Amino acid sequence: MKLLICGSAAAEGVPGLFCTCPLCLKALSEGGKDVRSRTAYQLGDTIRIDCGPDMFYHMVKYRLRLDLLEDLVITHNHRDHFYPEDIDNRKRGMSKVPAESLLRITGSRTVIEDCKKFMEPEQNKVVFRIVEPGDKVMLSNGVELTVFKADHSAPDAQFFAFRNEKFSLLIANDTGWFPDESWDLIKKENFKFDAVVADCCFQHIDKGSGHMGGETFLRVFEELRKSGSLADGAVLVANHFSHNPGMSHEDMCKFFNPHGIEVGFDGMEIEL
Ligand SMILES: [Zn+2]
Ligand SMILES: [Zn+2]
Repeated sequence: MKLLICGSAAAEGVPGLFCTCPLCLKALSEGGKDVRSRTAYQLGDTIRIDCGPDMFYHMVKYRLRLDLLEDLVITHNHRDHFYPEDIDNRKRGMSKVPAESLLRITGSRTVIEDCKKFMEPEQNKVVFRIVEPGDKVMLSNGVELTVFKADHSAPDAQFFAFRNEKFSLLIANDTGWFPDESWDLIKKENFKFDAVVADCCFQHIDKGSGHMGGETFLRVFEELRKSGSLADGAVLVANHFSHNPGMSHEDMCKFFNPHGIEVGFDGMEIEL
């Protein structure tokens, strides 16, 4: 199965809307890997993680068939990860959705309550599933989802592991240093991640809780290594970048690559 990093920016995107910082102006004029849409992922054809305001752009850029989605997993209700108004386009008169199509939306109680304000299960052909940290539930294609508590400013923010008999993947955003109960769960479940993609909003800078960057980010990978939670040859990726620290993709590669960490970008694919 393939993981596609659909987007790799924090809330404002890079170039940031209305921003005139040197990085944003460089991204706007030169393009390439410094252009970053809001963070979201697609796992195979049927599972999407987060649906921020760039879902239309992702569909067109990567030629994604969103009608094939069976699972939408939402980390938290911040606007860069969750734009439920777009899911309402599944209703009759807005889209011709195949009769048998059903989209299962999995998220915290807060996320699902917010979904209910914008869509109606029968009209939008969706079903809701509330999950809490510690839960293990099945997604399509035999993928098991494990739910972790995140350290983030949104209510009930969660991050997730995905695994089947072939791979084990951790996607940890948005979060700062993992809460103790999440570390305990990683160890208790004996995860051996083949790939880890984690929040690095602050790039090389350590700015405290809620997101990671710099030393905190590197410490998370050190802890995963020490606790035996990484498979041999695991792919380690930093993602979800703010433009504010000012580092280009190339600058970040110089900072992170010596630590065995790759820098995420829009369109990056990880074969699992
Ligand atoms: Zn975010
Ligand atoms: Zn957030």
